[in-house]
Amino acid sequence: MILLGPPGAGKGTQAAILSQTLKIPHISTGDIFRANIKSGTELGVIAKRYIDEGKLVPDDITIGIVEDRLKSDDCINGFIMDGFPRTIPQAEMFDQMLDKHQKAVELVVNIQVPDEAIIKRMSGRRMCACGRTYHVENNPPQKEGLCDTCGGTLYIRDDDREETVIERLKTYHQQTSPLVAYYEAKKLVLNVDGMKPIDETTKEILTAIEKK
Ligand SMILES: [Zn+2]
Repeated sequence: MILLGPPGAGKGTQAAILSQTLKIPHISTGDIFRANIKSGTELGVIAKRYIDEGKLVPDDITIGIVEDRLKSDDCINGFIMDGFPRTIPQAEMFDQMLDKHQKAVELVVNIQVPDEAIIKRMSGRRMCACGRTYHVENNPPQKEGLCDTCGGTLYIRDDDREETVIERLKTYHQQTSPLVAYYEAKKLVLNVDGMKPIDETTKEILTAIEKK
C-alpha cells in the first residue's frame, strides 16, 4: 500500500494506525535516512552529503534503500509506503523493482485535504523543547506561548512556517499529484477525505482493503 497526500494530511498518523492494525510495517524513507545518518552508516554519510547541500537524495540511492528494506521478513505480508514514491520516475522505478521480486502495488490511498486547511493545520502548530506539541486552535496551551508541562517558551518549527508550507504544497502539486493519475490508470487509487476524523478515515481504508 502507498499513502499519498500533501504534507500535513495525516499520512504518518494513518500509517501508524494501519501498521498496527494490519501488522505490516510502516516504511518511511525519511525515517530510514534519518536513522542511517544518526548511526553513521555508509548510506547515511552519502545521504547526509546531499541533504547538507540542500539537494534531494538521488532516485537510485532511494530505490536501493527501499529495495533493501522490503527484503526484510516483516514485509512478507505487505507494507505501507509513506513519502515514497514522490515522482513519476520514482513510481516507475518502484514498479520495476517490485516486479523483479514478484510483488506489486495493491492499493494507493490518496488522502485529500484542501491547501487552506493544510496551511491552517501546520502554521498553528507550536512545539516545546520538552517534546510536547500544541495547536493554537485545536490544542492550545493554558497560557499563550508557554508549555503547560514545563513552562518553556513555545516555538514554530521551520517546516511549519506558513511560507515553507506554501512552498512544500507547491512542490507537492507539481511532483506528486501526477502520481494520482499514474496509479488511477492502473485502477489502484482510493480517494479518502482527510478532513474527516482520523478513525473514520482509517475505517474507510480498512474497508477498501477487505474488498481487495
Ligand atoms: Zn514543555
